[in-house]
Amino acid sequence: MKRRAFVTGLAAASVAGCGKTGEQPSAASSDTRSFNWKMVTTWPPGFPGLGTGASDLGAMIESASGGRIKVQVYGAGELVPAFEVFDAVSRGTAQIGHGAGYYWKGKAEAAQLFSATPFGMNAQERNAWMFYGDGENLWREVYEPFNLYPVAAGNTGVQMGGWFNKEINSLEDLQSLKMRIPGLGGEVLKRAGGTPVNLPGGEIFTALQTGSIDATEWVGPYNDLAFGLHQAAKYYYYPGWHEPGTCLELIFNKDALDELPDDLRAIALMACRTANENMLAEFTARNQRALMTLVNEHGVELRKFPDDVLGRLKELSREVLQDIVDRDPVARKVYASQRAFQEQVERWHDVSEFAYYQARRL
Ligand code: CA
Repeated sequence: MKRRAFVTGLAAASVAGCGKTGEQPSAASSDTRSFNWKMVTTWPPGFPGLGTGASDLGAMIESASGGRIKVQVYGAGELVPAFEVFDAVSRGTAQIGHGAGYYWKGKAEAAQLFSATPFGMNAQERNAWMFYGDGENLWREVYEPFNLYPVAAGNTGVQMGGWFNKEINSLEDLQSLKMRIPGLGGEVLKRAGGTPVNLPGGEIFTALQTGSIDATEWVGPYNDLAFGLHQAAKYYYYPGWHEPGTCLELIFNKDALDELPDDLRAIALMACRTANENMLAEFTARNQRALMTLVNEHGVELRKFPDDVLGRLKELSREVLQDIVDRDPVARKVYASQRAFQEQVERWHDVSEFAYYQARRL
């Protein structure tokens, strides 16, 4: 019963999203057209978790549609470079693209708020904002001028703080540090006196190993181990204050999505919802084992950022966000929605998640 209500709700939501409110989706379509889609991604081909999450999503769309939507998945650089995914899908070179909103801040400043907000919501809270707050609707408003329709399609959970070749004991230790850290986290590092660099995943290891960057963050133990980042840096810091529950996106070319019959549209959107849940489950399942491998087999020094460093980074994050909302009215609207949602959900999580984590440790 619950499952059916969920599926019906999703199908109805997808139809409403198409601007056809009130029209009932048909159970089986008489429209037998088939579609050949390309998916471009910002991830190295087949990269664990992110790349495989994207290709699993493509396979899911294909199988759930009975092969009526065929999806050819291209990793970064195979059809277009990582940071051209947004443009490629916007102009229809590919019908769909998998990536993260903070890569597109040059297109729309508000885009980065849909992937991660420093000291913002975690995965569970962000999903709640996306699906039961204004998140997804605001996101679609922001991407609409680019002929794109974004959908949440993966979440990393709380990330790690990053890889360093020296200890971070004070905010001063971040000064003059050249670090790969995208989005708003990068802006915060800049305010702390560092130099943020935005590199796609596939270029991080070499940049760190050759010394063209001093430090980097990527995702979490499972992904960072796969890149071998421990071979180029000694200290592994937590928590990932800058990415507390990063939402990955599937962006649809709007024309391609609107061309689909209702049943295929519902299938494509439901596959994204499934991918969104799957990826978080996979990271949750695999991160700790990878972390143990890093520490026990590779001698990585695990460190927590000192509280006063985190406190200062939080203050700087507020300043960065304030600047953005002051200069960008769209970002102002999105951030106001996030803040209001976070304040109420945080209070709930104080008496539920947080209290339970503490109780579990008694
Ligand atoms: Ca990251």
